[in-house]
Amino acid sequence: MEKGASEPDPSHQRNGVVGVLYGEFTDTLNDRVRYSVSLTESALTIQMISSSPGRTKVVFNLTDCVGCRAYRGPDSADVGAYFTAYFYPFKRRWMSAGVARQRVEQCFRVALVQDPLANLQEAERWARAIRDASARQAPRRDGVVYMEVRRPCRVMILVNPLSGRGQALQLFTGHIQGMLTEAAVPYTLVITEHQNHARELVKKADLSQCDALVIMSGDGLLFEVINGLMEREDWQEAIQTPLGILPGGSGNALAASVHHYSQSPPAWNEELLLSCGFMLCKGLVGSLDLVSIHLASRQRLFSFLSLAWGFVADVDIESEKYRHVGAIRFLMGTLVRLASLRVYQGRLAYLPINEEPKLPKGSIKANHPPSTPQHPSLCASLPCRLIPNTSPNQNSRHNHTSTNSNHNTITNSSNNAITTKRPETQSDGKSRAPVDSLLPGLDQPVPESWTVVKEEEFVLVLAIYQSHLAEDLWTVPGATADDGTIHLFYVTAGISRPALLRLFLAMEKGAHLACGCPHLVYEKVKALRLEPISPQGMITVDGEMVEYGPVQAQIQPGLARLIYG
Ligand code: ADP
Ligand code: MG
Repeated sequence: MEKGASEPDPSHQRNGVVGVLYGEFTDTLNDRVRYSVSLTESALTIQMISSSPGRTKVVFNLTDCVGCRAYRGPDSADVGAYFTAYFYPFKRRWMSAGVARQRVEQCFRVALVQDPLANLQEAERWARAIRDASARQAPRRDGVVYMEVRRPCRVMILVNPLSGRGQALQLFTGHIQGMLTEAAVPYTLVITEHQNHARELVKKADLSQCDALVIMSGDGLLFEVINGLMEREDWQEAIQTPLGILPGGSGNALAASVHHYSQSPPAWNEELLLSCGFMLCKGLVGSLDLVSIHLASRQRLFSFLSLAWGFVADVDIESEKYRHVGAIRFLMGTLVRLASLRVYQGRLAYLPINEEPKLPKGSIKANHPPSTPQHPSLCASLPCRLIPNTSPNQNSRHNHTSTNSNHNTITNSSNNAITTKRPETQSDGKSRAPVDSLLPGLDQPVPESWTVVKEEEFVLVLAIYQSHLAEDLWTVPGATADDGTIHLFYVTAGISRPALLRLFLAMEKGAHLACGCPHLVYEKVKALRLEPISPQGMITVDGEMVEYGPVQAQIQPGLARLIYG
């Protein structure tokens, strides 16, 4: 007969560790293999009980645990019950260097008594204790203000079946579905049928039924979702819906950035997917900056990743025909475009991050959304717990010293240009998306506090607000999801092909700024304007082509929320 014990472990307390639970269970396949199992606030420790001296002991960190469940076995004559805990610890990769998250499950058989119900209750007690302790042990980093999605949270997952190599759905069922079941996360799966399907859907969706919106695709589908949310009448609340990203496309810049923010070692493909799935299961939520973009046709877009003109935009769009090769399409596109390097004429101006604009009398007060949730109705609709942030470094990243001497400042522009010309409400009384208090009309000169770039010939202009431009392009080493910064890069004409290639190769390791390339300029800005003079070219926002022509943008700090840990 199977015997087990489940009681507080006095030895743990002697060692200064507070034991939460202690028990003895058997292996699920072999009754003669017994384990002593102890659960503390931070770890599950399993030790094999055997007569041999070399007892194996395994310690699982609860930060790596996504869930635990209890159940009866398939044999109704079996009085035992079972519980299984699911971990995704970092483990050495098979046949290659480095570590990556890999799935490990630990199953135990509980047969303390002859009463199946009592055994099941005991298994459930353990499963609950492991789940609860794991939920308290999400991997948090200093300097990030986290909220948590409601548990259990209801997730809407949008999959673009054509993204990447056309395998997003298979990747979802193969790697994510099981993980969500292990973590007991209920979800609704939506497979998009055409471009802008997701945009229309989230525009009309009843978001009170949805605790998180998750995109399994490339960056393009998230761009649709964010703009759909911002087109709603209740955009202010809608855009606070936690957003998640699962890399299923060929351009997975946000997924690569989110993984990077989690301070995990670099990962690609399925490993990156597993990492993002893990973060989704852990359900920590932080702020995400958006950038408001105005086009010449008066269309306004919201962007979470990038605004690009010239080389980067050309590569992005031209390489779409190599989508079937996955993320490597950008390298192929880079080589092709290098062979016929183009120079574009245009004017670039920006508001540096350290310049506080002088607001003229009578201007509309900046209507910045708060970077921490303060909206009263929001807290009612989204019961999130705020983890206090005590990092002293929070503001230090805004300190920027410019070392660039390539600019001059316009002194003859009108002061009142800062005043926004757009009304805050439409004629039908609906509230509009947030006011861009830093931007004059596109037909007005840029304000005095802006810097106008002297050069008018560029190989590329790239405004980026995440760390990665693609899975293997670590463009902004210091970027975070909510640093309130547009990281502006531009490369002026005259750069040689080998020098440009060197920059992109160095970017894999985030080392391009250390190349000492005199044609590469990097500025931290709050707003920018680009006016192409060359009659033809491409502009992309988050990797999606937009109308070609004058464009301006400003940061909207912490406007959205993102699931990451
Ligand atoms: P990738 O990284 O492979 O480019 P994206 O998520 O960026 O993947 O999607 C590529 C484009 O496909 C985007 O413009 C997106 O809006 C669009 N799209 C989304 N769903 C569909 C669909 N079902 N059919 C066709 N296009 C779609
Ligand atoms: Mg794309």
